Amino acid sequence: MSFEGLIGQEHAVGLLENALAGGTLAHAMIFAGPRGVGKRMAAVRVARALLCREGPRAACGRCGACHRVDAGTHGDLYVVEPESSRSGVSISQVRALAAALAQSPMEGERKAAIIDPADSMTTQAQNCLLKTLEEPPADTTLMLLAENTDLLLPTVRSRCRRVNFIPLDEETVRDFLIRRGEDSESAAVLARAARGSLERAGEMAEAAAAGERAKLIEALAGDEGPDSEALRDMICGGRKGSLRQRRESALFSLEILHSFTVDCIRFSAGAAPGASVDVTRRLEAFAGRHGFERIARLEKDLADAIIMIDMFADVRLVGEKVAAATERLRPLDKS
Ligand SMILES: [Zn+2]
Repeated sequence: MSFEGLIGQEHAVGLLENALAGGTLAHAMIFAGPRGVGKRMAAVRVARALLCREGPRAACGRCGACHRVDAGTHGDLYVVEPESSRSGVSISQVRALAAALAQSPMEGERKAAIIDPADSMTTQAQNCLLKTLEEPPADTTLMLLAENTDLLLPTVRSRCRRVNFIPLDEETVRDFLIRRGEDSESAAVLARAARGSLERAGEMAEAAAAGERAKLIEALAGDEGPDSEALRDMICGGRKGSLRQRRESALFSLEILHSFTVDCIRFSAGAAPGASVDVTRRLEAFAGRHGFERIARLEKDLADAIIMIDMFADVRLVGEKVAAATERLRPLDKS
């Protein structure tokens, strides 16, 4: 079993297993699909099968080569990643990789290389890689991991076999979170917010554990009325770091708020709340205070905000819009 533990990617796994078993694995492949759905794990598993002493059809999982692949210390496995969270894979990294792949293997008979994320390569870096793709060394397998394959040059794409990885369905992500110890209520919210990515779900679960969810609901539905400033700060000012991390942090906050308003609407319509006692109390008060129509409008504003983040709108701008939307709830607080 080379691909155990890889959840929800039966199609990709089937393709790779067949290619390995039949000796028809392409020399260059693009693993295309969203972040955190198993592309990297699959690439490492392919490398393990190729480099295993019992390989290359499947990995034994026990030999020294298998262990060194897992530990990331195998001399014939090259993993190229950006040197910092703000840069992409550079031309000098690709040059170094090309030079290494032109040499004979150090340990066994094959070499494997993973570029992750390959869509972070500059045009120059991709052009440099093209030479290797045009005449791939016979003993080499190159795997390019990409979320957005449109960022890869057509000449690069045309020289690679594409293997598609799909976003996982909500249920799969939810089960994964429940197995990790989340209660079913937070698992459901997180699964929705994770957009089919186990990695993102895991990160969000950690953030949620820090109580962000309770803080957000308190800021929206506290007894004093919405605290728009706090909400804006939580949406915009989340985890510092790369743009991607800030977008995901904003998305996480927005999903929690959105899910709360959806629950409010269901509650107003007479559905039994599936939420915990604490949250149910908040739901009830919030629904009573603001009424169906205004909550429905807020729900739409939040859904729009989520779409904006998905479409790469500026996080701060989205935060301001949501703050303004919650501000509109305030004047009628006391009426
Ligand atoms: Zn092995």
